[in-house]
Amino acid sequence: MGKQYEKFASDIEAVTLVLKREYKDFAHHNKKNPLDELVLILCSVKRSEKVYLGAYRSFKRHFPKYNMVLRMPTKDLANVITWGGLQNQKAVALKNLMMIITKEFGKPSLALLKHFSDEECENFLTNLPMVGKKVARCVMLFSLGRNVFPVDTHCWRICTRLGWIRPTHKNNVYYHRDVDRLQDKIPPEFRFSLHVNMISHGRKICTARNPKCQVCVILPFCRQHVLQSACRTSKSVEKQKTSAVQ
Ligand code: SF4
Repeated sequence: MGKQYEKFASDIEAVTLVLKREYKDFAHHNKKNPLDELVLILCSVKRSEKVYLGAYRSFKRHFPKYNMVLRMPTKDLANVITWGGLQNQKAVALKNLMMIITKEFGKPSLALLKHFSDEECENFLTNLPMVGKKVARCVMLFSLGRNVFPVDTHCWRICTRLGWIRPTHKNNVYYHRDVDRLQDKIPPEFRFSLHVNMISHGRKICTARNPKCQVCVILPFCRQHVLQSACRTSKSVEKQKTSAVQ
């Protein structure tokens, strides 16, 4: 076990198990085809699940083949991709993205990324327009079977509340080096499960405002909750941790 895993190692393993038991590794409609996954994640930015799934289905209805995106005038493309506003900029970026992928692989497909190393995958993807580390790592995790840990707003919020990572900026803002620090702390074999189940937990229980701590299955591991509960002794916390994993 690497040095970066040592602190919180037993908590990380226990929380992974408890969340897995609660949410059953639900994969949130992610796609096996890496280009489909990329489009789905781009649709999901700042949208609720219902809205982004609708946007993705609408996109696929208009463009059953990705070649059609390349052939469509940018103005017409903007009229189709109306999710989340800024459609003119997004249409330009999406066309550029398809052109770069086609130039690299001979067709609008990311299937050949399976031959790339993790580092090469992430470099290629994060150099595409609109693609940051979270989007790149989602494509790698869900469609290319890589053991990476995409950090979205739910994962970040829960991990900071658990005390696994200390925020370096105000208002819970996080940057590239923060998500790398957090990924380094999560052992590769837990990353898929922890990512998908933290999304479920963040949507249902550990919400940004008014988290439902009283029914939280990982409460005994939560630093924020422990700090708020002055009467809880470390002995009783350890007891609760043990019963949570049993
Ligand atoms: S105890 Fe509360 S703050 Fe901590 S992880 Fe659970 S819901 Fe979130």
